[in-house]
Amino acid sequence: MKDRTLLMIPGPIEFEPAVLAALGAPTTSHVAPDFIEIFGQCLERMRQVWLCPSGQPFIISGTGTLAMDIPAANLVEPGDKALVISTGYFGERYAEILKRYGAEVKILHAPLGGIVPPDDIEAELKNNSYKLMTITHVDTSTAVRVDPRPIGKLGQKYNVLTILDGVCSVAGEELRQEEWGIDVVLTASQKAIGVPPGLALVMAGPKAIAAWRARETKVYNYYADWDNWLPIMEAYEARKPSYFGTPPVNHIWALHVSLGQILAEGMEKRFARHMKTGDAFRAAIGALGMKQVPTDSAHAASTLTAPYYPEGVSGPQLLAKVKEAGVVLAGGLLPAIKVAYFRIGHMGAVKPGDILATVGALETGLAACGYKFKVGAGLTAAQKVNQGLF
Ligand code: PMP
Repeated sequence: MKDRTLLMIPGPIEFEPAVLAALGAPTTSHVAPDFIEIFGQCLERMRQVWLCPSGQPFIISGTGTLAMDIPAANLVEPGDKALVISTGYFGERYAEILKRYGAEVKILHAPLGGIVPPDDIEAELKNNSYKLMTITHVDTSTAVRVDPRPIGKLGQKYNVLTILDGVCSVAGEELRQEEWGIDVVLTASQKAIGVPPGLALVMAGPKAIAAWRARETKVYNYYADWDNWLPIMEAYEARKPSYFGTPPVNHIWALHVSLGQILAEGMEKRFARHMKTGDAFRAAIGALGMKQVPTDSAHAASTLTAPYYPEGVSGPQLLAKVKEAGVVLAGGLLPAIKVAYFRIGHMGAVKPGDILATVGALETGLAACGYKFKVGAGLTAAQKVNQGLF
């Protein structure tokens, strides 16, 4: 039997062989002409993937948390007011980051599995003047997806900068940064971007760059300061050598391959494929009689699914049995319900067969845990949604 498991967690995901080959290729100089060329192309490709032709892309070594840190460090000055729209664990993290830079933070908490209604956000913006607000497009702890469109509009109406944490959404969920008026969209490499962990990717729109230029105080984080990075990104894009901190050369070669694959698929097709994959998983979980953390499928993510364990089923036992059946899933993350639910990641290069393999392994695990259900119900439901994909 092949010694192989399918990794279906919400990041890191399984990566394409061509991406891994680029990562493992001999390292080039960071000022080699061929590297300068592909770095420049990565920046240009990011604008196409983010759908943000006027944005300034940044490719910096680090994780998604650094990608959250970068706009906070560059846009917050002590005493600035920031509004955090929190739909889970990563919203709370954003509040902590903003506070470190001296922001006065107000958090609007969504109910568990729900969203904050745009009317509540508008009421808050009407009554208080904020410099910026953050949203988590998909909070990976709850699988709740927030619609960025009304929030982008509110940001423009009330002149508040909008920062979107797209770590679990960019290149998976539909996202049109420029058209939707979002000032900063950030992500990391290890999810739908399809490159092993190690890259913090940020796209800053013109209003965000102007706000950074208008600062009265220095940026307190030396490594994150756009003053250090902007000339580097501009140099690579102009195909000129430059240096601030050694770029993660192999990761950038790999990013070049992955962004190329994403654009070859096409953003519209990619959004539609992720949507269908999310539908297939949600249909399967529903058909197995299991509840999910998002309270409404209208705000459930396409990039991951978060089912509750059925009553009487032990979480650790179920995940172990699913793993024995060949598929690795993730446990819970949100502290309040951590032991009550689990997560299935399905972004990037997920094939229809991976969906069936995952649902099949889940059924095997559920049966091994003594859960009563109609065997094949999940597979049939997934297959029905899947059909257009085959
Ligand atoms: N934001 C979201 C929505 C995430 O899912 C994650 C990681 N799971 C992060 C931020 C932080 O990213 P990292 O773990 O790469 O620091």
